[in-house]
Amino acid sequence: MAATAEERRYAAKVSRRLQRAYPEAACSLDYRTPLELLVATVLSAQCTDERVNLVTRELFVKYHGPDDYARVELPELENDIRSTGFFRNKAKSIKECCRTLAESHGSRVPESIEELVELPGIGRKTANVILGNAFGVASGVVVDTHVGRISRRLGLSAQKNPGKVEEDLMGLFPKKEWIVLSHRMIGHGRLVCTARSPKCDDCPLADICPRIGVESS
Ligand code: SF4
Repeated sequence: MAATAEERRYAAKVSRRLQRAYPEAACSLDYRTPLELLVATVLSAQCTDERVNLVTRELFVKYHGPDDYARVELPELENDIRSTGFFRNKAKSIKECCRTLAESHGSRVPESIEELVELPGIGRKTANVILGNAFGVASGVVVDTHVGRISRRLGLSAQKNPGKVEEDLMGLFPKKEWIVLSHRMIGHGRLVCTARSPKCDDCPLADICPRIGVESS
């Protein structure tokens, strides 16, 4: 269902508050190329960006293009990324994805969401991260655990499914805000609107937030 004018006005207010609170919000993963961002994003599942950045500092010296990841023996890659957790699945995803890039995409990361989500191990969230940050293309809103939680608390979405939350956010916010919106929400989720014990008293959205699902302490 399309957002009403009132819902969009509320969303614009949320956006202005977040912009004021987090003017410099940006991707906190370190990367120099679209491939490096792809690898870092896969590694960031269930892992902090700080840990990923520590691991990729060495990883990106050793591996340069998709061919390097496609050729390495799986156990060696697993060992190189072990400390990010879930390293077996992550190594498999990175290796298979890079094999496909090398075989079918001329060793380049594609710039369309349709092609990206076809790659092994790449879902819509990762595709949005890559397109938004490496290519500056607003293909959607990155909905991670922070963005989903904050959207529900603020009443921007009642959905649990990240894809459905994304649809709601895309209907509420103008396209030019999609990329930075998720950076600001992620920053807000880490610092203020934390999963447990959100700091509502110190929140720049306190006077407008309905705090849906937040238990008062
Ligand atoms: S008022 Fe509380 S629940 Fe609402 S956004 Fe701020 S921290 Fe989150």
